[in-house]
Amino acid sequence: MSSPWDAATVNLVSKELSPGVFAVLPDDVNEKDHVATTAGFIIGERAVLVIESMVNGDLASQLIGLVRRETSKPIRFLVNTSYHGDHAYGNFVFPDTAVVIQHPATKRYMDENFEDDRKFMLDLMGEGKGIERVQSRSADIIVPDMITVDLGGRLVEVRHFGFAQTPGDLVIWSPDAKVLWVGNMIQAPSPALPWLLEGRHRDTITTLAAVKAFLPEDATIIPGHGKPMRPADIEFPLAYLRELDAAVEKAVAEGQSIEDTLKTVEMSRFGEYSLFDWAHNTVNVPAAYSNLKKDAERA
Ligand SMILES: [Zn+2]
Repeated sequence: MSSPWDAATVNLVSKELSPGVFAVLPDDVNEKDHVATTAGFIIGERAVLVIESMVNGDLASQLIGLVRRETSKPIRFLVNTSYHGDHAYGNFVFPDTAVVIQHPATKRYMDENFEDDRKFMLDLMGEGKGIERVQSRSADIIVPDMITVDLGGRLVEVRHFGFAQTPGDLVIWSPDAKVLWVGNMIQAPSPALPWLLEGRHRDTITTLAAVKAFLPEDATIIPGHGKPMRPADIEFPLAYLRELDAAVEKAVAEGQSIEDTLKTVEMSRFGEYSLFDWAHNTVNVPAAYSNLKKDAERA
């Protein structure tokens, strides 16, 4: 598929959720069920932490400009929720004084696969979208589990809850503002569905359930490509993944081929998502089928 958004025309806006805690959202976030990458920043007494760096230098500069509109304090920390280019390609634009924080699996992927990944992103996003000029910049600090960052009078937690969409998914939690950035493990609120690009849907279920259990009910979640949502909204992707798991498991047990499975596992009640056909039929059903078939063969 081609990208559902154009990296050359994204206009980012910031929204203050709590004093000094800002979500950064594409300006069409309320009009579509899937938009360009979201971001955010948190301002302490001494320093600023930025979440995500966007897909190219221009969008990273737009994001830095939104920070500069609110504060002149230095950006000391930059966190990527995954290695996906639209979340981490803008790292190179940030000042040298900012330390980049990633999960070790994200750093490893970026260090080993950057040029292949750039080719993939060029294919997906198109030429002339600033991806040609991106330079790889991976982590200075790796977080396998959890760290607390002190911005001066304000703590921010960076946590790994487990595999959700990639092996290196990180979330960023502001305990005082009760805001959680989750990146692509949740694309957007309902009707958006998970994208199981690396399979392992049962791990995704476990991780999403753990994230939901961690959060107070009145927390705000910033998903990777959509508008802010509540913890209760995680039930929607969970319901989809559990139904997918049960339906594909049944098809595998009956010995169905992948072609027959695609016909029987329609799940059309989730079909309202604008990217349903791609996400469900091209990515998720084949991913679940291949995982569950391997499990069945091993048993
Ligand atoms: Zn993304």
